[in-house]
Amino acid sequence: MANTGNGAAEIGVIGGSGFYSFLDDVTEIQVDTPYGPPSDSVFLGELAGRRVAFLPRHGRGHHLPPHRINYRANLWALRSVGVRQVLGPCAVGGLRPEYGPGTLLVPDQLVDRTKSRAQTYFDGLPLPDGSVPNVVHVSLADPYCPTGREVALAAARGKGWEAVDGGTLVVIEGPRFSTRAESVWHRSQGWSVVGMTGHPEASLARELELCYTSLNLVTDLDAGAETGEGVSHEDVLRVFAANVDRLRDVLFDAVAALPSNEARDCPCGGALGGMDPGFVMP
Ligand SMILES: [Zn+2]
Repeated sequence: MANTGNGAAEIGVIGGSGFYSFLDDVTEIQVDTPYGPPSDSVFLGELAGRRVAFLPRHGRGHHLPPHRINYRANLWALRSVGVRQVLGPCAVGGLRPEYGPGTLLVPDQLVDRTKSRAQTYFDGLPLPDGSVPNVVHVSLADPYCPTGREVALAAARGKGWEAVDGGTLVVIEGPRFSTRAESVWHRSQGWSVVGMTGHPEASLARELELCYTSLNLVTDLDAGAETGEGVSHEDVLRVFAANVDRLRDVLFDAVAALPSNEARDCPCGGALGGMDPGFVMP
């Protein structure tokens, strides 16, 4: 009988079915949260002796656009099955000519340009169990887990894929791509890549004291960097499909190399500094 409660997993991967569909013995479970259901079932599997929870960010069949994803439910659901370290691969546009399709970048900074997303657990509104979240301000100065970043970079290097170490991911609301003017502006700020899902994933993970590492696969040069017709959805899908196997290999090596949850020595697990969240952490 598979363990499907807290302790069922230690590491979470938020990404599509390409990352787990061929694993043996995957257990699919439904997890409910105070914020409603996550994007899909949580898929529990074992990899290199590690218990991993996979969650398709956009739902099965990719039916959820970035602004409709229930990010709060997704992170909550992962933590509730025991996850404390999260890997978040996503497709991005490159904002520099040298970051062409097929580039892998592990960002160290984030800029939020989203508009409509519930992006905190500390909004003062009662949860269904009657608890009321306190007003808590976490630091997001360094939005990503330093250990996870090093592990991801080393895993990529081990596969002969030299990833860009650091850079700024700017997250836009979507689902449309940027105008040329927006893209020129993003680039002129010195930002590296542009995506639609990296926020509020990173900040919600921080609020739940989870380690979070973003892996950005460049699928296109964003509109301003492109001399042609701008970005097309077909191009994005084509480049993603061409790289999904090696991205999966990198993720799996990273999963194997992450520390045990008990052995973490990064600051992520103490993000609240002992402050009372006002609710019971899942
Ligand atoms: Zn960490």
